[in-house]
Amino acid sequence: MLMREQTDNSGNLESLMNKTGINAKLQGYILNSVALHSYPAPGVLIGAIMVDYALELLGTTPDEKLFAVCETPKCLPDALQAIAHATIGNKRLTVLPIGKFAFTLNISSKQAAVDAVRVFVDIKKLKNFATINHWFINSPLYDRHRMADTLQEEIFTAGRDILSFEWVKVGTTQKPQWNSVMCPDCGDMVPDYMLENNKCAACGSKGYYEKIQK
Ligand SMILES: [Zn+2]
Repeated sequence: MLMREQTDNSGNLESLMNKTGINAKLQGYILNSVALHSYPAPGVLIGAIMVDYALELLGTTPDEKLFAVCETPKCLPDALQAIAHATIGNKRLTVLPIGKFAFTLNISSKQAAVDAVRVFVDIKKLKNFATINHWFINSPLYDRHRMADTLQEEIFTAGRDILSFEWVKVGTTQKPQWNSVMCPDCGDMVPDYMLENNKCAACGSKGYYEKIQK
């Protein structure tokens, strides 16, 4: 059932993107982002448009080694991962839980700081797009059961018209040197720089499970 809904929805998405004049490259970015995210969340659709915009502003393509800092854990990280290949796993994506629908993107640099473009949804530009505005500010006027299709169409129609950007400087991080050490409490190996009070973080502040018998 879930597969069928997803398949049907991606067909709808493609016809909607054609209807609203989304170019082929951006359509690919959107579909890849939706596939990674597992469904076409509004934030992922806007996120794909934002990443496409940022790449153009940087004058680059996803083939380049790109670094991103995402200011929300919701939706937007998946567009950066799917399109710019800045991922949690390759450590080119940092997610900061600030709560803003914004990110910075920059090209790899050996310098301590580098120019980046910061792209964000601009609240001043949402006044022309009522449905996006209601969704964005989490207003009770947005009813996701009745208005999801309208929202998608408005997102594709708006494209970059709801976005703004600024140039910023961001710090870069160089790979740390590390040794593998054993946690004296649990016996697991961890990088030395991740110890807290000579124990692994799971035996300290980041413990998240209890062992059980099965
Ligand atoms: Zn431990």
